[in-house]
This record gives sequence, structure tokens and C-alpha cells, in this order.
Amino acid sequence: MTMRLCVFCGSSSGSKPIYVEMATCLGKALAENGIGLVYGGASVGLMGAVADAVLANGGEVIGIIPQALQEKEIAHQGLTDLRVVRSMHERKALMAELSDGFIAMPGGIGTLEELFEVWTWGQLGYHAKPCALFNVEGFYNGLATFLDNLVEEAFVKSNHREMLIVEDDVARLLTAIDRYEAPVLTKWIKSSE
Ligand code: AMP
Repeated sequence: MTMRLCVFCGSSSGSKPIYVEMATCLGKALAENGIGLVYGGASVGLMGAVADAVLANGGEVIGIIPQALQEKEIAHQGLTDLRVVRSMHERKALMAELSDGFIAMPGGIGTLEELFEVWTWGQLGYHAKPCALFNVEGFYNGLATFLDNLVEEAFVKSNHREMLIVEDDVARLLTAIDRYEAPVLTKWIKSSE
């Protein structure tokens, strides 16, 4: 069965060329490793760049876009498979179901929301799939520090914090995803705590 990874990323391209360059680099690496891409189906921003790179290198791309966003995000017309769904909830559920792991590249609020949703599902043991940040040029350093603070302040357990892979290099990112083992989550809620 084809392995597929879901990439969450900006519907914008960001301020620096490196963001598009790294989206292209990730897309190329996915295709070269025979890994299919699942993503939000847009042709714009980093979303378009990662999809274009997978396709240009002979890979498979499944895009999932809600009807209402089809025009706004300009649905990509060259995908292996474009699925138009009714709602954002349906989009996220299908992206999660079809994917064996999740990568967030630089992006905005939508990207963060998508990443945190799948990570919380992992924390609850709904799935055992890896969640990762592709930390292009330290884009997510501030977030990583904030997440450490959540552990410091005893709102997040360190094994749940450690579930999130953070890598700034595509090869290391894909290796970490490949080696990921979900923590054993029994007793994660303790009435005494
Ligand atoms: P952004 O990171 O805001 O550029 O958005 C990246 C992708 O996330 C786009 O395809 C957005 O449609 C999507 N998105 C935006 N808001 C949400 C949300 N609340 N839930 C899920 N996806 C969203």
C-alpha cells in the first residue's frame, strides 16, 4: 500500500523565497521516496508549491477542498485526485483518514489549527500517526519554546510534547517520521493529578 503523508502549509507563500523553495524540496523528496501527498487541494501559496513539486517528479497527489473554498483557494486542476467535500470538518477528517502521518510547513492560522487538531487526536490515542513540524529557517522556534512552557507549567506531559517531531531538514524529517513510535498512552488521565 502506498504510504501517504499529509502536508499542512500556508495558502500564502510567506515573505521569503526559502518557504517556496523548501515546499518544492519537500514535494520532490516525497515523490522520490514513493510517498503520496495528501493536502488541502489549493493551487496557491505553499500548498500549490508542494503539490506542483510532487507532480513534477511523478508522484501522487490527493487534494481535498471544501466547495466554499474552491474558488478562493483556486482548486488545483492537475492533481491525481481532487475531492470536493461539503465542509471544513469533512476536509480535515478525510485528510486524516487517508494519511499515514502529518507535516506542518510554515503557514498561518489554518495550518496551525490543522496541526493541533491531529496532534490532539494523537494525544488522545485516536491514532498513532506521526505529527511533525518542518521548521524551515527556525520558523517554528517560538512555537517550540511555547510548547516547552506548557510542559513547565504542567499542562502537557513531556511524552505528549515529545510526540511532535521538529526538524529543519527534509531528509531528517522523513527519517524521523519513518521511525516514529507513538507513546503508550494508558493512564494519561490520572484523577489524582
Ligand atoms: P493558512 O495557514 O491560514 O494559509 O491556511 C492553510 C489551509 O488551512 C488553507 O487550505 C485553509 O483553507 C485551511 N484552513 C483555514 N482555516 C481552517 C480551519 N479553521 N480549519 C481547518 N483548515 C483551515
